[in-house]
Amino acid sequence: MYQKGRAWIELNMDNLAYNVEQFQQLLSPNCEIMPAIKANAYGHGAKLIGKALQDMGIQDFCVASIDEGIELRKTGITGQILILGYTSPYRFPDLSRYHFTQTIVDYAYAKELNDYGQPIYAHIGIDTGMHRLGERSDSLENIREIWKLSNLNITGVYSHLCVSDGTSDADRQFTLNQIAEFRSVIDALHKQGIDGFKTHIQGSYGVLNYPYLNFDYARLGIALYGVLSSPYDKTVSDIKLKPVLSLKARVQCVKPLHSGESIGYGLTYTAAKEMKIAAVSIGYADGIPRELSNKGHALINGHKVPIIGRVCMDQLLVDVSDLSEVSAGDEVVFIGQSGEEKILASEFANNANTISNEILSRLGNRLERIIVKE
Ligand SMILES: *Cc1c(COP(=O)(O)O)cnc(C)c1O
Repeated sequence: MYQKGRAWIELNMDNLAYNVEQFQQLLSPNCEIMPAIKANAYGHGAKLIGKALQDMGIQDFCVASIDEGIELRKTGITGQILILGYTSPYRFPDLSRYHFTQTIVDYAYAKELNDYGQPIYAHIGIDTGMHRLGERSDSLENIREIWKLSNLNITGVYSHLCVSDGTSDADRQFTLNQIAEFRSVIDALHKQGIDGFKTHIQGSYGVLNYPYLNFDYARLGIALYGVLSSPYDKTVSDIKLKPVLSLKARVQCVKPLHSGESIGYGLTYTAAKEMKIAAVSIGYADGIPRELSNKGHALINGHKVPIIGRVCMDQLLVDVSDLSEVSAGDEVVFIGQSGEEKILASEFANNANTISNEILSRLGNRLERIIVKE
């Protein structure tokens, strides 16, 4: 076991492989997983996750920014890397240097990309209702015009679902409409004799709630890491996923707190009785939300311990009054398993009034990422 860390992340790559397999079985046979390893692979560590997935036979990836793509290339990712976000014109040379595939965010951007004068691989974003990136699905004329730009090598067309996690009739209807809009764009292109491009629209919830769709790629993010966004999410598919990440720190010291004494910045917590408290080596700079001050909890030696006082930048305090055995160096689990107890990323996030995607993607770069075996 890892012994020296102050605060760290453990990665279980067997669980990652298990999740990949579950999705491969769920998806139609011609649909490939294109993992979203943006935001440092949702905090897990992009290099480690990218390498592990490539070793499992995954070829193509998507990221949010060109620098995330370069990091992957430098670590040996050789397949297609699709950049989901905007790349500024002064970075266009890097698009060709690293053989990236750039998202065309609208027609004006396509022209700018074409004016760069070098061949560029691209997927066209189609806005089917989220109204974020992409050329609107009703401006077919522009979409067709993009194909005529001679420096662009258009290898794909994609859209993005914005309420695929919803299970209400309204959300399902909206999603089905987005899918129908996307299909109508594809059909219209085929009718014009435009062919041979890849199509994709599903992220994690698109796959979990509409698994039967038959596009070329599924851009899996959060669920590939074995995590749902919220602990209350219900999905159509009931595949079992296993969390890849655990978040841990250490007890630095244990001390008594006397009745009537207050603790931490702002003295926001006051002992109502004789207590025992522990200072833990992780804080908001590592990604523990300050929102969890006097609210969240962690696990020590298989017991639940409340976070008390304000979460500091590098440390926080927990109430260990009920623990007979606790001492400096003990492991503190914020996400993961300790004895019979466990905290899911989605539960941790829910306590902080957010979703696991935000918690994980903000895990700090001071945390060491360590691959563990069970
Ligand atoms: C982040 C992202 C994904 C992955 O989303 P998950 O819900 O985490 O699976 C897919 N597509 C686009 C365009 C994204 O920005």
